[in-house]
Amino acid sequence: MLNSSHKIGTITPGSPAEKAGLVPGDIITKINNVELVDIFDYHYYSDDANITVELLHEDGTTTETLVEKEEGEDLGVIFCNGLMDDYKSCSNKCAFCFIDQMPPGMRETLYFKDDDTRLSFLQGNYVTLTNMKMADLDRIIAYKLGPINISVHATNPELRVKLLHNRFAGDILEKIRKLYEAEIPMNAQVVSCPGLNDGAELDRTIGDLLQFAPVMSSMSVVPVGVTKFRDGLYPLRTYTAEEAGKVIDQIERWQQVAMEKIGNHFVQASDEWYILAGRPLPEADRYDGFIQLENGVGMLRLLHEEVLDALEDIKKPLFMKKRKVTIATGKLAAPFMKKLADIITEKFNKVTVEVIPIVNNFFGEEITVSGLITGQDLIEQLKDKDLGDNLLLSCTMLRAQEEVFLDDITLSELKSTLQVKVRIVQSDGHDFVHAIIGR
Ligand code: SF4
Repeated sequence: MLNSSHKIGTITPGSPAEKAGLVPGDIITKINNVELVDIFDYHYYSDDANITVELLHEDGTTTETLVEKEEGEDLGVIFCNGLMDDYKSCSNKCAFCFIDQMPPGMRETLYFKDDDTRLSFLQGNYVTLTNMKMADLDRIIAYKLGPINISVHATNPELRVKLLHNRFAGDILEKIRKLYEAEIPMNAQVVSCPGLNDGAELDRTIGDLLQFAPVMSSMSVVPVGVTKFRDGLYPLRTYTAEEAGKVIDQIERWQQVAMEKIGNHFVQASDEWYILAGRPLPEADRYDGFIQLENGVGMLRLLHEEVLDALEDIKKPLFMKKRKVTIATGKLAAPFMKKLADIITEKFNKVTVEVIPIVNNFFGEEITVSGLITGQDLIEQLKDKDLGDNLLLSCTMLRAQEEVFLDDITLSELKSTLQVKVRIVQSDGHDFVHAIIGR
């Protein structure tokens, strides 16, 4: 079968593929005489030493080429289509789906609901496994792929069917058990919705998943995000501070159970719960190596630790010019950022930092995280303010690899409208300190 999604986009310089004469534009049709379906097949069959690659060239000719390489050595090919196949979209209609709560008129790609298990291995995406049959899991097991990150949400079959609005969603424990028996590493995630999958249902989910530890390495619980665009959707609300405190207590009780059983905390509450409840963040050693950072678990604690490290490393200069910077951030993290800025300005006292919490008018005021702040809210709320020498913005506000906000306003539009130098700060304490002190 000829498949243009198997077309080579880039060849790594000096790689076995380059040495064997493969070039961008070639289509890999077979490796060792096996037709490839997708990137999983490619990784599996290209792992051997000295492989034979069948190529379809742009001029329509076909050749077979021996690629000399060590076993396990990367062939050095990057495909135009990272999956080497069409992306599988999701077959659910989750009560809490963020994509369903987005305003109309945004870039089309932002509405694409992917739930492709291959992206779990390639990019760490969390997937529901609802579009995976047991036979699909056999391929994961045969290829020994992992870790697989699973959006579980609830283990009670009826509740999961209701939450995901998918009548095939109830067999998650069977799927997890199959992966567990094959020792495929897993992580789990729960989006907690008030009155739906919290309370006794959350206890049931954590208890059910803990039995799969340590093959299942970790589990996170994050609170649902609710925008102002929920007309016609399942009625959902956000958590109160008191409710957030109860969820934390519940999770911390399970952490004690897990510590006794497997020697780590297993289940983690995301940072948002602690901020919502107005409680101090757990110490760094409570995060089991920050295994669930991508779900917003421990990010703020890690940032704090990195800032302290950076302050130890950076010498205070004998002379420093006065400097003023502004940090614009989500309402949720603003008090925490202020505390961090105060720690930094205690040492670098020529710097003044103003932290401005941005209200999310675009998605609605209930959305308080920095990663969903748009260019138009920034412009609207900062335009009449003295922003000092630099405006610092988190890299999470920009689309990956692009200088564009979620609402398609570009970074250069923002700079020229606000007439300020903008520094994009990476999610890293060292970069944060450097941005504040102007290095
Ligand atoms: S799995 Fe659920 S939350 Fe994810 S994209 Fe699909 S409907 Fe939305």
